Amino acid sequence: MTRKDRTEGIFSRREVLDESERKQYYLIQLKDLLQYAYRYSEDVKKRFDRAQFNVDKFRQLSDIKHIPILKKKELIFLQSMGPRLGGLLTKDLGELKRVFMSPGPIFDPEDRSDDYWGWTEGFYAAGFRAGDLAQITFPYQLAPSALMFEEPLKNLSCAVVPSGQSDSTTQLEIMQKLRVTGYVGAPSYLMHIAQKAEEVGVNLRKDLYVEVAFVTGEKFSEKMRSTLEKKFDLIMRQGYGTADVGCIGYECFHKCGLHIANRAYVEICHPDTGIPLKDGEVGEIVVTAFNKTYPLIRLATGDLSYIDRSPCQCGRTSPRLGSIVGRVDTTARIKGMFVYPHQVEHVMAQYEEIKRWQIEVTNPGGIDEMTLLIEAVNFKREDELLHTFREKIKLRPLLKVLTPGTLPPQIRPIEDKRKWD
Ligand SMILES: [Zn+2]
Repeated sequence: MTRKDRTEGIFSRREVLDESERKQYYLIQLKDLLQYAYRYSEDVKKRFDRAQFNVDKFRQLSDIKHIPILKKKELIFLQSMGPRLGGLLTKDLGELKRVFMSPGPIFDPEDRSDDYWGWTEGFYAAGFRAGDLAQITFPYQLAPSALMFEEPLKNLSCAVVPSGQSDSTTQLEIMQKLRVTGYVGAPSYLMHIAQKAEEVGVNLRKDLYVEVAFVTGEKFSEKMRSTLEKKFDLIMRQGYGTADVGCIGYECFHKCGLHIANRAYVEICHPDTGIPLKDGEVGEIVVTAFNKTYPLIRLATGDLSYIDRSPCQCGRTSPRLGSIVGRVDTTARIKGMFVYPHQVEHVMAQYEEIKRWQIEVTNPGGIDEMTLLIEAVNFKREDELLHTFREKIKLRPLLKVLTPGTLPPQIRPIEDKRKWD
């Protein structure tokens, strides 16, 4: 079987606009979005009025700094403020295609437009080509993570195996029997599948046919990437996005940062003041996707990165996000899921025996591991606690019961000890 060329080509003309065309494009998209959102989203109108921001006076890109930042965490509260997700939506819920729910809880609307989540150009850049059979291993239930990747694959004339959260034996069997050529999922899960295959004597290069992998949802090291690329003889590229807005950036073959998607205007801002920072400076990723249905204007993602405008060998002219260097606050993204301290606190409050708690996150071998440390005397409800925790937080931690006074006096609710390289 001859292999497809997965290294060349560009999906959309928008990826190669020159600098002045790009500025013009952003300006037109933003003007249009702001006018529309102000008119049809109750929440946007309220916020713009409060900040005395006049949409008619938006003349150049830098004027965007006069719009207050919208923190991702505010969505939890705002969405509960009334119909149309608290006025954030410009349509009724029944006019949408789907409504998902992410931890928080935050609802993620999807409307009926083509390529709503905007991943098609990113999948092409990652190396997916017509005729691929892609196995999607993200969960299909409630969260949008799996379904949002079906559309780009359809647009690129690929087929999908929606294997979701099947166990690794089933995943491996599908991969082998159907000669799957593409993997979509978390990088650590692909590593898990590789380990499983080696255990049962499946040769990753001879018995499997995976040539391309699109990964997202968790940070991984270059060492892990090259290990997986060598093991399977495949190309592995990552995307960056959120369940609120969809695609924000994606890697090309040359893997030197994440090209910013053409569907969004991205700023790097000071996490406290919201003031845009200079190219190269590390700050919070603030995104405005050109989405009239759910106009989250200047959404602060909580992720930290920087902008790189140096030319890329692939020919794409879009600026790039350097690596995602961390999280702004104590919220941690573990195994692709956001874990909020207040949700953990909610669970802990049900156990009066627990005096104090802390979550420790590590990544031995590049795979996230979460340990729940609790201080308690004669704690007997371990199984019950793990069950409740898993039900609310969607992740299963390791549990360590400590005698009171073991944890230091000043602790962060989530201590992120993960190392990248
Ligand atoms: Zn590139």
